[in-house]
Amino acid sequence: MKLDVNALRYLSKDDFRVLTAVEMGMRNHEIVPTQLIDRIASLKHGGTYKVLKNLLKHKLLHHDSSKYDGFRLTYLGYDFLAIKTMVNRGVFAAVGRKLGTGKESDIFEVATEDGTVLAMKLHRLGRVSFRAVKSKRDYLNHRTSYNWLYLSRLAALKEFAFMKALENHGFPVPHAVDCNRHCVVMSLVEGYPLEQVKQLENPEVVFETITGLVVRLAEHGLIHCDFNEFNIMIGDDEKVTMIDFPQMVSVSHPNAKMYFDRDIDCIFKFFSKRFNLSFEENSADERGDSDGESDDVVGKPRFADIRKENGFLDRELAASGFSRKDQDDIEQLMGGDDENHPALDTEEDGDDHLEQDEITSEQLDSLCLDKDKDDPVESSSHHLEETEIEHGGVA
Ligand code: ADP
Ligand code: MG
Repeated sequence: MKLDVNALRYLSKDDFRVLTAVEMGMRNHEIVPTQLIDRIASLKHGGTYKVLKNLLKHKLLHHDSSKYDGFRLTYLGYDFLAIKTMVNRGVFAAVGRKLGTGKESDIFEVATEDGTVLAMKLHRLGRVSFRAVKSKRDYLNHRTSYNWLYLSRLAALKEFAFMKALENHGFPVPHAVDCNRHCVVMSLVEGYPLEQVKQLENPEVVFETITGLVVRLAEHGLIHCDFNEFNIMIGDDEKVTMIDFPQMVSVSHPNAKMYFDRDIDCIFKFFSKRFNLSFEENSADERGDSDGESDDVVGKPRFADIRKENGFLDRELAASGFSRKDQDDIEQLMGGDDENHPALDTEEDGDDHLEQDEITSEQLDSLCLDKDKDDPVESSSHHLEETEIEHGGVA
């Protein structure tokens, strides 16, 4: 079933108010009781129920009456809230075609009022890693908001914070523009993922740039952890830009060496296969000190040899609103299982299946947003914050 994304244009202030009320209820309810939504939204004359019907029709909410009568946000509902906020902030004015579907995100072109095209990444944690996340229920249980909203928001916040910090340190990353909920807006990278590049004029130069980045990241105390041909963009002039940072860890992580070697091995393998570069045969672990050898073949950088500066995460990221605790949380949830990396786990789960209510490119084509409407999140958050939801209770 297709959704008319023009709905975004026609959704009223009340619609967004109720959508926001559901979002707030989800801080401590997986399914938010209808009565609680009504209480938080506090629309006059029972208006909430009519609005809920409308939001359901547009697939912004999912209705669940298995335990009690209630609703939860769909991805699409969450997308609309984030997009609406970005538009109201003047970050962009229109959403265009889909640029890519990552493992755990959807990327769209967006355009500012003056026509500048940017990239919007909507994080979808839970899409492929939900099983892994589910296995971490124990960890999640002692927090009130343990759902995909929390995880996706955390991933976006982390990505935004890293992008900013890395840019400040001169790394070739997209410029981080803004972040709200699970949505990160950044500059558009011209070019293609390395995976799509069949020919390079200077493969050795590109290779050295890329491995140099892994080393320089480690010198700054960081490991990318997903440094492969899908997360490296190559511009027309063979300019390298790295993307995709939600899974980065500190060099003080217990598995840091393994992650570092994996990133390096990935690049070596790819360049050897695609561009026929030749390297030393030894695997990362077998490499000893090979002083005195003077072949043309390139040796792999060794984690032990790098002068690593610890503390980058704490210092730089806390300033962007991403705390050490956030980092610990997300490491627990995303990278806790090395044998079975969540990113590779694409099986769906029967009982906890999350709906795939994504925006498709057709749906978003030519979507123009109405800037005049108030943002219910910003304009009425004070009122909403004051509403007691802790004891809202289950109907
Ligand atoms: P995921 O975490 O889901 O893998 P990525 O950040 O790697 O998401 O993005 C997925 C794809 O979207 C990339 O491989 C790339 O093709 C495209 N993409 C991501 N960010 C940008 C950007 N700033 N500019 C242009 N294309 C991008
Ligand atoms: Mg990626």
